[in-house]
Amino acid sequence: MKTADDLGRELHRLDGKPYPAYKDLSGNVRFEDFVLFIDHVQGDPFAAPSRLRLRIPLERAGFPKRCWEDRSRRKGFCSLLAHAFSNACRVKSKARGSGRSGQIFNDAPGQEVLSTSAVQITDGEIDARFFVGLPAAGRRILGGEAAGILCVDLPQIARESLFAAGLDEKEADRWADTAQDADILRQKLADLGLAAFVADGAVLPRKSGVDQHPLRRGAVPFRSPEGLRVEVNLPNSGRVTGMGIPRGVTLIVGGGFHGKSTLLQALERGVYNHRPGDGRELVVSDPTAVKIRAEDGRAITGVDISPFIGHLPQGVDTRFFSTGNASGSTSQAANILEALEAGSTLLLVDEDTSATNFMIRDHRMQKLISKEKEPITPFIDRVRQLWQCHGVSTILVMGGSGDYFETADTVIAMEDYLPREVTEEARRIAERYRLERKSEGNSGFNPPTARIPLGSSLDPRKGRREESVKARGIKTVHFGTEEIELDAVEQVVHPGQLRAVGAALLSIKTLADGRLTLSELLDTLGREIDSRGLDFLTDRPMPDLAEFRRFELAAALNRLRTLAVQFPRKGI
Ligand code: ADP
Ligand code: MG
Repeated sequence: MKTADDLGRELHRLDGKPYPAYKDLSGNVRFEDFVLFIDHVQGDPFAAPSRLRLRIPLERAGFPKRCWEDRSRRKGFCSLLAHAFSNACRVKSKARGSGRSGQIFNDAPGQEVLSTSAVQITDGEIDARFFVGLPAAGRRILGGEAAGILCVDLPQIARESLFAAGLDEKEADRWADTAQDADILRQKLADLGLAAFVADGAVLPRKSGVDQHPLRRGAVPFRSPEGLRVEVNLPNSGRVTGMGIPRGVTLIVGGGFHGKSTLLQALERGVYNHRPGDGRELVVSDPTAVKIRAEDGRAITGVDISPFIGHLPQGVDTRFFSTGNASGSTSQAANILEALEAGSTLLLVDEDTSATNFMIRDHRMQKLISKEKEPITPFIDRVRQLWQCHGVSTILVMGGSGDYFETADTVIAMEDYLPREVTEEARRIAERYRLERKSEGNSGFNPPTARIPLGSSLDPRKGRREESVKARGIKTVHFGTEEIELDAVEQVVHPGQLRAVGAALLSIKTLADGRLTLSELLDTLGREIDSRGLDFLTDRPMPDLAEFRRFELAAALNRLRTLAVQFPRKGI
């Protein structure tokens, strides 16, 4: 194997040569403490930077075993390494020529702790992946600069961020401890009969609508109401108290701007762990929680939305409903049924982003527009059945309609950013002022029919390329010539998740054999990723993939406008 000195000499030799000569670098290089893999060399200094990877045997790195021996702890620990590597890169990254020359960076997760391909531990080694813009002046190689990055800066970056000698051991423990506690807390929810838990002292508000860092100034720390306070014991934090939101139907009520949506958003992201210091480290929810909202304009393919929408104008069948342009209510109905199909047992709904006519039909409207002329069975008439017949809980922010009081097991009022339990009060009011509206969903409903996605309807070709799949930010996946819009899929939190989802759609295309249902496809893929890691998704080691949930993958598939599905044939 080449040594670091060989690499240095080679780079100096390449100095002044045309850019493509960099391609000769591909391969492995032995450094003192690690092996560098140059996986992909960019075509020119303006293109996406080159992909590199280094591997360090764990004994060499010198971290105590407790940091990485258990899955949860390993995830927290790897996130720390990814952040540390990213910070160390930032110090060294600078313009060293044209285009992206001199850039060095990785793809660390944000406030959420995700397994990413930026840093992983596999086969007893730390695997750290990153990008380098190999330097050039115009299109002429700057060999000396390249040697500066790879032979001088890189070993230093690695020493500072991936070896015990360069990192604070306490910090490593803190990340591992935090991740382990959050996972254990989330696992305990089911036994405690809870849909979610928010620890006392948690800081829920964020810096701004576009910045997920915790709000520092003026943030009111969370304090559980007595009636909902639950105590749990965690291996690292010890005794922790906080608000347990029971399974069933929960309303979050309260005046405008009193912190209702902020609480719900914290629960949406409570399916992920958070980095130490985030404020939401011990805010966890049912890992299958799905945020449900109206999303007019989205495509829907073959979804049975009849529990919510019946007899549409012109006799359109809502048991196999497809449209290229959903309305607010049909989109919200499809979002719910798709979440159930993928296995969600907790729906999170905010009035701010719901279709009014989907949520409620009051007494007067029932008088004016007869049931025969209104296809919608509103959510208010289904939310209890979802819980009682299907075991699916709902946490609903609803400041605008007391008609929901009857449906709730628990009512929480947010007042000046603090919760108060008002279940009894709401019940008394509901008894005193009886509802005149009639329930419209008396007949109950069946669980969603399984759909079988057809692989042929996923077409990744674009122009002359057999496969063109790209993610842009956390909102869009380009799949072939199609653009999958995920603006309304709010539990995507990192661009790496969508890059992985894009790759996973290709796997789905391969797996879809015309027999496996969507949920079976998600199971199969989930198992593979579980045992083989994110690398299962790509034919080359990629530095910038992040773990995603089955719900976000299903969301992307469901929004693909070319998707075709069929129902299983009876009798098979
Ligand atoms: P609502 O949904 O009740 O109208 P929001 O949750 O949107 O209210 O919150 C309104 C504002 O208050 C937001 O700017 C939010 O960041 C801020 N906020 C929410 N919770 C807290 C808190 N615990 N401490 C300080 N500010 C908060
Ligand atoms: Mg709100």
